[in-house]
Parts: sequence; C-alpha cells; structure tokens
Amino acid sequence: MNTYQQLSGLQRALRAGNLCCVDVVRAFLKRIHERPEINAFLEVYSDEALERAAWLDAEHAAGRWYPLSGMVVALKDNIAYKGHRFSASSKILEGFESLFSATATQRLFDAGAIFIGRVNCDEFAMGSSNENSAFGPVLNPLDPQRVPGGSSGGSAAAVAAGFCHAALGSDTGGSIRQPAAYCGVVGLKPTYGRVSRHGLIAFGSSFDQIGPITHSVEDAALLTEIMAGADEYDGTCSTRPATECRMTTQTEAKFPLKLVVLEDLEDSGGLDPQMFEAYQNLLVRLKAEGHEIITRSLPELKYSIPTYYILATAEASSNLSRYSGVHFGYRNPEATTLESTYKKSRTEGFGKEVRRRIMLGTFVLSEAYYDAYYSKGQKVRRLLRDKSYDLLQGADALLLPTTTGAAFRFGEKSDDPIQMYKEDMFTVLANLNGFPAVSIPFALNNEQLPLGMQLMGRPWEEGKLLSMASQIQPIQVVSTPLGA
Ligand code: GLN
Repeated sequence: MNTYQQLSGLQRALRAGNLCCVDVVRAFLKRIHERPEINAFLEVYSDEALERAAWLDAEHAAGRWYPLSGMVVALKDNIAYKGHRFSASSKILEGFESLFSATATQRLFDAGAIFIGRVNCDEFAMGSSNENSAFGPVLNPLDPQRVPGGSSGGSAAAVAAGFCHAALGSDTGGSIRQPAAYCGVVGLKPTYGRVSRHGLIAFGSSFDQIGPITHSVEDAALLTEIMAGADEYDGTCSTRPATECRMTTQTEAKFPLKLVVLEDLEDSGGLDPQMFEAYQNLLVRLKAEGHEIITRSLPELKYSIPTYYILATAEASSNLSRYSGVHFGYRNPEATTLESTYKKSRTEGFGKEVRRRIMLGTFVLSEAYYDAYYSKGQKVRRLLRDKSYDLLQGADALLLPTTTGAAFRFGEKSDDPIQMYKEDMFTVLANLNGFPAVSIPFALNNEQLPLGMQLMGRPWEEGKLLSMASQIQPIQVVSTPLGA
C-alpha cells in the first residue's frame, strides 16, 4: 500500500477517499514488524495508533480535518508523552513513565498527528552513531552493516525505513542532522529557542533543540511551525511568530542564492574523497544554475569541537546530577549509605560514554580549572557566534557537507572517542551559535549510500532556509518500496 512520503499527497488521497488513516497505520505496523532487526523502536504503540487512526477517520468523515491529519510520527526516547514510558535509552530511567507531554508532543497531537511509538537513540543523546544506547544499536536501513548516525538514530532509521512519515529528534551538536544525512532523509535543527524544550530530557540546555526528521523539506517546515512559538514552561523559548518557519513568498530566498562556502575545506581534516568530489560537483551545478558561490574563510571552525565538548559536557554533568538514585532513576538495591547509593546507582545506571561525559564536565567545572576551560569556552563560543554573523554578511546561508562522509560501519569509531567526536566537525557550529541548520540528501556515493549537505542560515529564518534547501533539490533515497 502506498503510505505517501509527503503529507500533502497523503491528505489528497485521504480527502479523495482513496485510503483511510487506519490502513496507513496498518501498513506502517506491518513494515515495522517485518524488520525488527533495525531496532529503531523501543516501543510500538500499535493499538493506540490504530485507535487514534480510527478516531481521525471518523473526524474526517464528519468533515473535521486537522493540519497534520494522517501524519504518523515517531518520538525520540528523550521527548515526553504523557502516560508513556521514556528513558533517553538509558538503564537509569528504565520503566520511567512521564506525567506530562512535552510541549512539542502536545502541539503535534493537537494538530492531528498519530504517534506510532518511541524510538531508540544514543544514551542521553550522547553520540554520533547510536552505538551508545543501553538497548542496543539501531541498524541503518539502507545498509544494516552501517550505523544510522546519532544520536537520533532511531528517528532517522524509522523515517528512512518507511516505518512512519516523520520523527522527532533532538539536536545538541548534530544529532538530527547527522542521522538524517546517513539515512538519506531531511533533518532540521531549528534556531535555538524556536521550539520549547519543555519535556525534553536535558543534555546541554543551552544547545538542545527539538526538530523534525522527514522525507521532504515541506513537511519539516510544517512540523516546525506547529511545534514553534512561546511556551510558558520554557523561558528560553522565543515569542517570535511561528509563521517564520513557513515556506511562503515572504520567507522565500530570492534567486540567485548567495551561498557561502569555506575555503580549505579539505584541509579541515578527515573529509572523505567521495564526499569532497560530490560536494565540488554540487558547487559546479549550483553555479551553472546561476547561484552565487562566495568563498570565505573561518579559521576558527577548528575550535568548535573542543569548545562544544567543554561546554556541553559541563552542562551535561550538571543536568545529569539529578539521577542520583534518590530523586530520580534507578537505585542500587544493596546500597546502604547515601554515598554508596549515589556511587553504585550512577555507576550501574549510566553507560560508559555518559560516565565519561559526566567526568569531563565535572572536571571542566571544577574550581581549579573553571577559568581555563569553562570560562574560556564561553568566550570562544561568543567569538564563533560573532564570526558566524560576519560569515553570512550579504549572503543567504553557509553551505557545508553535514558529515565527513557516508555512514560508517559498526565498531569503526566506537573505540576511539576522539574519532567519534570529530564526526561533529560540521554540525556543532550551529549549536554553538544557535543558528538554524538543515541537512538534505544531495548525492549517492559509489556504494549507493546517501551523502548529506547542510545549510546554516541566520537565526529565525527557517522558512527561508527550507525554501533554499528545496531549491537545491534533495534527492529521494528510498530504502523500501514504499508503494509496495
Ligand atoms: N555527537 C554529539 C555528541 O555526542 C551531538 C549529540 C547531540 O546532538 N545530541 O555530543
């Protein structure tokens, strides 16, 4: 059955009576059950999704339509949904049930979305390959020998495998864009403050943003617009109009696009030759189409990974202190004193990478090193933000590869944290400066694996950013015969 990749096509078919929501959900459930090895879902809400679909079908029959009528969405396991479990893929929160819904979840629900399940991710969203989940890795549906990217690996894999129309992810240093790139789908990290973080399990609170993973830029725009807007539960959430996310003639980027590219990109280290070639070909095509390519330099880009890993781990160590075995989370049953409760519960409850981040973050915040690391990191962050505004002066967006290459194989980088952290080379800038950035699939390498390119625009210009992405024309990467 055709479940349609884009909401507009699906809604046309629903309105024409060619299919109904129950059939769409059934088709997705069938595919999910056919490929359990992908391990994208930690929980599938089969009955609930079918009930919701039946309710929507009745609403439609009565002439009541919703903006997201028919859209089937998966939720990353760090985004709250009232009465449902969520664990940030960590043993420390295993079995924890949320008492409320995240603002993003609630707004999608109110707009008619059908939630099909909660999806796997790296533990507490720390990782670039989804190998850090306490519930096993997610496999890339395009090549199960390879990682789906992280940390929103389950979200991207679920969309790419045709298990749902869209998924929510969270992006602290690239976790929406990297998996979107590796799985051949679209991923948007909105401007910091565009989408409320209420109900998102905190990792690095000054970096975290919820955003959509979809097949099309149009659906990414729609989901972001619905989630966006002021929220009394998140003081960092902007009151700017959500319609800025919409791709309209007002927000549209004027032809020709003025795109900034960085000189010496190949010297920034580790760029895969196939990615480099595909990226150069893209620039040639864009120039031939009449767009303007402006080469500028940002030598400070090399500071973005160290700055990110100092500041994000500092925030993580503070945020994760609440999982003490007393207030929240798993408690070791044999612990007898307060100290042994903390030590045993946290040592057993957290995985290796999360423990490493807590140690790193605690170190950079310690009295003796605070100025050398944390304070300096804050200054470099400010510098990078200022330089980012300079970089976009008189231009529309920065065009970069999303990752250094295509999805890598399991185990290739997991023994060496530095290698893994380098994966974030092109993505963390948009989290340090808070700018919006989108990844779209733009080419296939020799092994038919998708390559992602990234556009980073100015704050609050999501509509323009997505209209640019659509002018660059993402390729369609399909892992399963969606029409079958
Ligand atoms: N890969 C980065 C990290 O491990 C980014 C993670 C994220 O965006 N949540 O910190």
